[in-house]
Amino acid sequence: MSEARPAEDSPPSAAKKRLLVADRAGGYCEYCRVAELNQVSPYNIDHIFPVSLGGASDVANLAWSCPRCNGAKSDHIELHDPETGEMAAMFHPRSMRWGDHFEWCEFTLVGRTPTGRAVVFAFQLNSAKRVRIRQVEAREGLFPPPES
Ligand SMILES: [Zn+2]
Repeated sequence: MSEARPAEDSPPSAAKKRLLVADRAGGYCEYCRVAELNQVSPYNIDHIFPVSLGGASDVANLAWSCPRCNGAKSDHIELHDPETGEMAAMFHPRSMRWGDHFEWCEFTLVGRTPTGRAVVFAFQLNSAKRVRIRQVEAREGLFPPPES
């Protein structure tokens, strides 16, 4: 007779991981830094290093992501830097500091590095709608977001 063992993924459970990752991110998308608070669609757990490439589901490989960023990121681990055309490493919220790669210029997001420029471009982080969201967030004290 075998003993019941928790599934490999259970400690912490998927629900607990979701809470841990959301709390660690302070409720902000770890890529575009938009707050989940006023968004209709719930945010997602993003596997920073994609599962399709062997990425683990431990919290060190998970990021809190809005649906738009999650969809844009997909399983990319590199993106084209629009300035040089060279491939740049995908932003990694656990091993890279957001502020090293991105900075605000009023309501526009500027990539400071090849990684930052590539993410801003590929994720369309300065679309009219995203700029508008930041302007609305500013009225509510949600923008600029806290340092990550
Ligand atoms: Zn986002």
